[in-house]
Amino acid sequence: MPTITFEGKDFFCADDETVLECMTRHGVLLPSSCQSGACQTCMIRAVEGTPPPESQNGLKDTLKAQNYFLACVCKPSGDMSIGLSTVSPRYKIALLHKELLNESVVRLRLERPAGFYYRAGQFINLLRPSDELTRSYSLASTADEDFLELHVKRVPEGKMSNWVFDGLQVGDEVVFFGPAGDCFYVPGKPEQPLLLVGTGTGLAPLYGILRDVLNYGHLGPVHLLHASLAAPGLYLEPELRALDARNDNLSYIPCVLHGDAPEGGIQGNIANIPSQLLGTLKGYRVFLCGDPPIVNALRQNVFLAGTSMQDIFSDPFVFSPHD
Ligand SMILES: Cc1cc2nc3c(=O)[nH]c(=O)nc-3n(C[C@H](O)[C@H](O)[C@H](O)COP(=O)(O)OP(=O)(O)OC[C@H]3O[C@@H](n4cnc5c(N)ncnc54)[C@H](O)[C@@H]3O)c2cc1C
Repeated sequence: MPTITFEGKDFFCADDETVLECMTRHGVLLPSSCQSGACQTCMIRAVEGTPPPESQNGLKDTLKAQNYFLACVCKPSGDMSIGLSTVSPRYKIALLHKELLNESVVRLRLERPAGFYYRAGQFINLLRPSDELTRSYSLASTADEDFLELHVKRVPEGKMSNWVFDGLQVGDEVVFFGPAGDCFYVPGKPEQPLLLVGTGTGLAPLYGILRDVLNYGHLGPVHLLHASLAAPGLYLEPELRALDARNDNLSYIPCVLHGDAPEGGIQGNIANIPSQLLGTLKGYRVFLCGDPPIVNALRQNVFLAGTSMQDIFSDPFVFSPHD
């Protein structure tokens, strides 16, 4: 009889009982609706133990990789510890490296704390030590690198970004918690075409995801579109061109809204460029990051061009409400 551990208490699951039925029988009401694995209201995470594959049917690969499952169709084959969310510890680390990537984007490399695991493209929440002001920043490093890389854009009047530019120095201590987010690459389907589209520092998660994809030896075509209002807003061009030259299946396409198209790039509205460039996007896996209205428009456009919702991963960089 498998044991389900939830919030420090053990519950015994009867033969042929689902996790949802077991918890309900013990008076623990988890969110649920359809009770047939369709609506995903009862999605929960196995913190320990492995959910049976049929309890993960229909979930995105990134959720499966994080051990999420549907409690209403999960008949556990062994003990499991389940949680609605996990509380991340706070890490205190030093800034190792700071470098301007263009006039309004700075690259930070932070110490990687022991035991901190993440997927390239997830984000962390950075705290300003003086007052605990908190903002999210995407991880541009890959999981095998021994530092954490962030790309921070200076926002006019922005509290955190201006402190990062003008106050934070190499050797200073910062605090963060995380990781979070499901915008990352899960290996598998190696022939699947991939499309990565980012505006501004939306390149940060994509830079991590792209190198992850290449490290895993993905075989299908990979298109990276980096968009900016104008050419000075692009960054990491030399590195991305070098990656493009070394990998036959990669095309790096810089895009600008105003001014001449960059070398090998496109001038136009990034929301429309993917379907204009590639035609149908049926069968693609797509990653979209950066400015929220553009990410939302892109999500709609790639869906209309044929990409399944299951294969669209996005991180709109929504602003924080006023602190
Ligand atoms: C999941 C996630 C990942 C993120 N990843 C990154 C990343 O990798 N790199 C990065 O640079 N940012 C990223 N952001 C945005 C970041 O969290 C902050 O919102 C941003 O740095 C601005 O913070 P601030 O304190 O400087 O500005 P605030 O003090 O919060 O804002 C100042 C003013 O600027 C406006 N504003 C805020 N952000 C912007 C903007 N981007 N453009 C125009 N106006 C703005 C606000 O509405 C406000 O009026 C991410 C956000 C999320 C939710």
